[in-house]
Amino acid sequence: MTFDPETTTFLIAGPVRIHPRVLRAMATPSLNHRGDYFHGIVQEIRELLPVAFGTNGRQVVLSGSGTAGLEAVYAGLVPKDGRTVVVANGNFGDRSDAIVRRYAGEVTTVRAPWGQGFPVEAVRAELDRGDVRAVCAVHNETSVGLANDLAAIVPAVRRSGALFLVDGISAVCGIPLPIEAWGVDAVVAGSQKGLAAPAGLALVHLSERAVAALHPGSYYLDLGAHLTALEKNDTPWTPAVPLFLALVEALRLLKEEGLEGRLARTHRLAEASRAAVAALGLELFPDPRFASDTVTAIRNPDGLGDPQLRKVLEKEYNILVQGGQGALVGKIFRLGHMGIADWPDLLVTFAALERILGKHGRLPRPGAALSEIVARMP
Ligand code: PLP
Repeated sequence: MTFDPETTTFLIAGPVRIHPRVLRAMATPSLNHRGDYFHGIVQEIRELLPVAFGTNGRQVVLSGSGTAGLEAVYAGLVPKDGRTVVVANGNFGDRSDAIVRRYAGEVTTVRAPWGQGFPVEAVRAELDRGDVRAVCAVHNETSVGLANDLAAIVPAVRRSGALFLVDGISAVCGIPLPIEAWGVDAVVAGSQKGLAAPAGLALVHLSERAVAALHPGSYYLDLGAHLTALEKNDTPWTPAVPLFLALVEALRLLKEEGLEGRLARTHRLAEASRAAVAALGLELFPDPRFASDTVTAIRNPDGLGDPQLRKVLEKEYNILVQGGQGALVGKIFRLGHMGIADWPDLLVTFAALERILGKHGRLPRPGAALSEIVARMP
């Protein structure tokens, strides 16, 4: 079998597979983005965004990938005259740090090695030092397949009075994020992850406190301008119209499944993946206590790198999984099982992994990984 993008089993860590209903929604003639039909689309998106975030709030859609959402939030909310704490334990924590440093006055970065758990004590200590006006953290560190224990810092963030700004790009619709209970002030989601829409839109949730704290930062990504336009079912600039049409269909699909249903399915797929990884005799990359439910990151076994695993999956089995980033290139591979990923995706992928490892004489118990998956299917 050769790689065929139309029929591939697609398990990268986002963009994720897109439902045909969502694909079809994009295939429309040009629309007047200031006309009634498009205003109706924007209105429906507004009405459905709370389904994705699991709460009502001030929510906007920006034309631009997840990073645009992060830049909008940091440009508008990190203080120029106070301290911002950024937490980084992977590639996307580093990305947030880089963006924040363009806009913030004083930045303290609390780091933990990639793949290790959230540095809770160090974050608390920084908050106790005082004068922290914003805390920026990644909920799900996609680069290492790790869900950060944000709940553990909630009381300290609350006490400090700092704004709590969360990169939820690969967490929203995949990992529970109780925005209200944790007092999160801004959450950024990416269209191409748990929502299973095409790449290219950022969704932003803001608390009332965050809206009140917005200050001028970016012009194009001015969240205030987007909020004002959205109240009239409009956008300040020409939006990515086909992506909005796809987004509304993806949100309808999410509503049909229900956020709880999607979270539960994602969790079950993650548990099955982790059990199957162990049955293959492979190891997770992150601290297993914090393994992510949306992305499973697996160490390449000794002597078997990308050419022997990932490339064979792609070229011989038409299965796409993702490699490592930065220093982890060639050392790990990652399975994204969020959005509309489902049991057949896992069965096909782990069957191929069994076959590949078996051919190298590296499969401890033939059939065991598949049995772990089958045992967890509904
Ligand atoms: N943050 C996280 C946690 C991500 O997973 C990603 C993308 O994978 C980003 C930020 C960057 O988002 P984008 O590539 O959509 O700009």
